[in-house]
Amino acid sequence: MKRTQGIHHITSIVGHPQENVDFYAGVLGLRLVKKTVNFDDPQTYHLYFGNKEAQPGTIITFFPWASGKKGTIGSGQVGVTTYAIPPESLSFWENRLNDQSVTFEKTIRFGEEVLQFEDVHGLKLELVERESGPLNTWSNTIPSDVAIKGFGGAVLYSNNPKATIETLTDTMGLTYLKEEQNVVRLQADGELGNLIDIPLNVTEPGHMGVGTVHHIAWRALDEEDHADWQSHVRTDGYHVTEIKDRQYFKALYFREYGQILFEIASDTPGFTVDETADEMGTALKLPEQYEQHREKLEGLLPPIEVTN
Ligand code: ZN
Repeated sequence: MKRTQGIHHITSIVGHPQENVDFYAGVLGLRLVKKTVNFDDPQTYHLYFGNKEAQPGTIITFFPWASGKKGTIGSGQVGVTTYAIPPESLSFWENRLNDQSVTFEKTIRFGEEVLQFEDVHGLKLELVERESGPLNTWSNTIPSDVAIKGFGGAVLYSNNPKATIETLTDTMGLTYLKEEQNVVRLQADGELGNLIDIPLNVTEPGHMGVGTVHHIAWRALDEEDHADWQSHVRTDGYHVTEIKDRQYFKALYFREYGQILFEIASDTPGFTVDETADEMGTALKLPEQYEQHREKLEGLLPPIEVTN
């Protein structure tokens, strides 16, 4: 039996990269931990945001398509990305979102107060107070006792919730916790990115585009464990890709039966493999195969700046 520790990263498609930086580094106070390109389409950025140490379970990544077509959020996608904030910090965030002109709603799920809002490109986000997970000491503007720690989890909009729950419990090793108001909650062992909610009511199918999640990645410990995951998932009958080198982690992909694209990503080697812990996110980093095209790529990519 293999058990993932929870979410490694979540990757979404968004609009203009500067608006993306302004929202996640500016409004939410996350650290831009890596500025690189989409390895499959190097004329597009791949931007990574996380906590100060860029730990797995805190990493949200984006493919910004400045003139991309808007997608629709629906079944077969991660519907909502849930962020964990420290206990007693919800009122700070209500004030902050108000100050930043971000409208939000409050709801209760599984007894927890949840603050729901959208990012600048329509992605659904929420904040929930959680005890577990270390404080994030990154931001100059947001004190660490209220700063976003990383993922609390995610809400998966499956178009076959039973099958998705089965994949997550039987193949990925999550534990079934409870069901309430037609939502099932599963738990992984990690401190962050560990509570996964799956509504049992199926919504209209989503369409990929700006403002939608592209995939969710689950944690493997290291490269050896990652290779084990490949045969484990394959043995359970899923069509699994080859192992891809994403510079900061090894990756493999498969689509589960609720149509959501799953990735498994290794915690190693991590984001300090090509720049120091202090320098992370400051320079455009290119994988070896694109280094020879650096000048051209730098000319094509719009300049972006973290302004706070
Ligand atoms: Zn990924």
